[in-house]
Amino acid sequence: MVIRKLFKFEGAHIVRRCSSEKCRENIHGHSYVVEVFITSDKLDNGFMLMDFCRLERVKRFIESFDHTYSLWRGEEEDFKAFIYKYNERVAELPVSPSAEGYALLFFYAIDQILQGMEPVNGEGHVQLQAVRVHETATGYAEASREDLAWVHFTLEDIKFSFKDDVIG
Ligand SMILES: [Zn+2]
Repeated sequence: MVIRKLFKFEGAHIVRRCSSEKCRENIHGHSYVVEVFITSDKLDNGFMLMDFCRLERVKRFIESFDHTYSLWRGEEEDFKAFIYKYNERVAELPVSPSAEGYALLFFYAIDQILQGMEPVNGEGHVQLQAVRVHETATGYAEASREDLAWVHFTLEDIKFSFKDDVIG
């Protein structure tokens, strides 16, 4: 069985090196929709895989990207300095903030959050199955565990310029 919870954030970025000149040369934003898919091996005492109220840390993590500029750490230093000078909310990321990059990053971080939670109320082996990031109404990227082999980062590589993030 699979359960799915949807989250949203309004984010800004540039996707350097992508094929579209509009996307790689201009700061712009999207209304992101993030779907989190979770599996388990049994029902809890409430006949649920996991009560969605247990995903509060996941919600807070995703909301860290709301009205935040997602800055790829590979940007040139003068651009980084500009972003930090004129934005209060910056998330500096080890991956470029494409939908694929977000999906991989969110999978990794949400997986860490879930693995750090103690089971309650008879929960089974709750596991993250996939994270789907919709950048527009017509396109999304979905990451699952095996895709993490493509990237190498830790939670310490995600740096927020403000205090309300929930990782670490
Ligand atoms: Zn974009």
